[in-house]
Amino acid sequence: MKQHPRILVVEDEPAIAELIAVNLRHGGFDPVLAEDGAAAQLVLNDSLPDAILLDWMLPGQSGIALARRWRQAERTKAIPILMLTARGDEVDRVAGLDAGADDYITKPFSTQEMLARIRAVLRRRAPELVKDAVSLGELTLDASTHRVSYKGQELRLGPTEFKLLHYFMKHAERVHSRSALLDRVWGDQVYIEERTVDVHVKRLRESLGEAARMIETVRGAGYRLSASGAQVV
Ligand code: CA
Repeated sequence: MKQHPRILVVEDEPAIAELIAVNLRHGGFDPVLAEDGAAAQLVLNDSLPDAILLDWMLPGQSGIALARRWRQAERTKAIPILMLTARGDEVDRVAGLDAGADDYITKPFSTQEMLARIRAVLRRRAPELVKDAVSLGELTLDASTHRVSYKGQELRLGPTEFKLLHYFMKHAERVHSRSALLDRVWGDQVYIEERTVDVHVKRLRESLGEAARMIETVRGAGYRLSASGAQVV
C-alpha cells in the first residue's frame, strides 16, 4: 500500500534528479527516478505513480513526445504530468501544455515552487491524496485524524478499507471498475488480483454497518459510493 504520493521523476542529469528526489522525500513524497523514456516506461508498466515530473530535454524520446504518448494511452492518461525545462518561451510553454502537460516548471526553480505545483496538480487530479475531511450524506471521513463516522458514531476501519473509502468519497456517485480501483487505491495492478478489491469492499461494508447500503455494486462495471444508495448487494 502507498504511504506517500509516488512521483516518477524522468530526468537524465543525475545531480538534478538526485536533488529533486531529496526535496520530494523531504516534502512528503515518494520519488522514483528514471533517466530516460524507456526507463520511465518500465516503471509505468510495473505500477502507476501519482504524478510525473518530466524533463523536456532527454536522450532518445523528448519529454514532449513522452507526454503526448502517455496522455494518449488509456492506462496513463489520467496521471498528472509536470514538464521541467530550461526553456521559458511562451511558444514552448504552449507546446508543453498542448502535449498534455498539466503544468510547466522552468529551471532553475525553487524547491518550494516545485512542491507547491505538485500539490496543486494532485489537488486537481487526485484529490484523495490531499489530506482533509470529506462528507457524503451522514458519512464523514477525516484523512488527517484517520477517523470515519456515520450519524456521529465513530466506525473502525482497517487501513485498506480506509483508503478505499477515502477514494470512494473523493469520487462519489461515479462507478469505479476493479482495475481502476487497483490502480488508484493500491497503486499496482500487476501483482494483485481483481478479486482482492471484492474482498476489501466486503470488509468495508461490514465495517460501515448501516452505511454499507451507500456502496453499490454495479453489475459488470464495478462499485459506486452513493449518498442515495439503497441496496445492499
Ligand atoms: Ca535533461
